[in-house]
Amino acid sequence: MGASQYRSRLFLLLVFFLFYLNAVGFSQSVNSVHRKAILVDTHNDCLSGQVLEGRDISVLLSKGHSDYVRWKRGGVDIQFFSVFTGETPRKKEGFYQDALQEIDSLNRIILRHPDKFDFATGYREARKKVHRNKLVAMIGVEGGHMIESDLSKLDSLIAKGMSYLTLTWNNSHDWATSAMDESGAGKTLIAKGLTDFGKQVVQKLNEVGVIVDLSHVGEQTFYDALEVTSKPVLLTHSSVWALCPVFRNVKDEQIKAVAKNGGVICINFYPAFISKSFVDAKKYWEGPGKDSIRTVLQQLPAYRDEAEILSKQVNLLVQQELAKNLPGVKEVVDHIEYIVKLVGVDHVGIGADYDGIGFVPKGLEDVSTYPKITAELKRRGYSNQSLKKILGGNVLRVIKANRS
Ligand SMILES: [Zn+2]
Repeated sequence: MGASQYRSRLFLLLVFFLFYLNAVGFSQSVNSVHRKAILVDTHNDCLSGQVLEGRDISVLLSKGHSDYVRWKRGGVDIQFFSVFTGETPRKKEGFYQDALQEIDSLNRIILRHPDKFDFATGYREARKKVHRNKLVAMIGVEGGHMIESDLSKLDSLIAKGMSYLTLTWNNSHDWATSAMDESGAGKTLIAKGLTDFGKQVVQKLNEVGVIVDLSHVGEQTFYDALEVTSKPVLLTHSSVWALCPVFRNVKDEQIKAVAKNGGVICINFYPAFISKSFVDAKKYWEGPGKDSIRTVLQQLPAYRDEAEILSKQVNLLVQQELAKNLPGVKEVVDHIEYIVKLVGVDHVGIGADYDGIGFVPKGLEDVSTYPKITAELKRRGYSNQSLKKILGGNVLRVIKANRS
């Protein structure tokens, strides 16, 4: 080997080494800002799984998206646990009792594992309890139907530590209409928006320092609530309509109205709220695509007269096709960036909706993956100060403005 060959090899080696150093430096600086930031996720549905399936989120689980070990790997400091029950109550006693059951289950977890979980309401308490080895749990009640139009039940949920109330889930109820119904995707409505009682609820929440959550609500309810509220609001798990036009996402005018109110929109990771091409793929593969797979498989001897095996195989193939269309980290960050470009860096956060979503983006499979969001934002040139706001600082500001 001649001297010039040695030189060119040495040069290549040096280039690789510099690349390596650069990559290590980048990941160290991502890691450092991610760990220093107070990471707040405003929406997680694992309580329902825990109540209904007896899952124990204090240990590493192979099922679901969330548990203590993965939260801490993901650098999460404060997690809002969604207290949820659907349009039909699980217990005959009604929605309110379902809510109490979920709150009790969270309390039990915290009592059993004081080394891993802590509970907080309000800014000062949450901030004080943030700790490297603990997850601070806060309560968000997802759906005004759980107060059963009764202010004393609202009082009782407040006393139990509710930090936000989502005015509706997908179902409209006596005093507020939902995005699903207002958009025409659900029930036909006689009137839209907040009733006088609904306005009273918003005022009461303001008075006692519970945050008004406007995810899931219809546009009329959204604007009615903004008219009444004297405090900044959250949208705890909604994404951007302009990038993915579905009824659960928020339009530009709504984003501007939230910014004017001083509130924050926390991006939901659900692929069908992130990517229009995933929505289209889902529509096709759960409809005509699924039918054509079934028609082909039915011809094969292995599936003839084997209805159960056939339907399992059809579902498997549908899932495989959908997996090819899943958005990734970049598409989720596009939603964050859209809001930043429209109204600035002070009005966006994260509310991934883990354990409430049937699909997850590629690379964001569970609560351990938040550092990838930080890395992508850093790659796009966001300063450490902006990153800290997006990861949790903005939501903390809203918590503080509601209850210091
Ligand atoms: Zn939801």
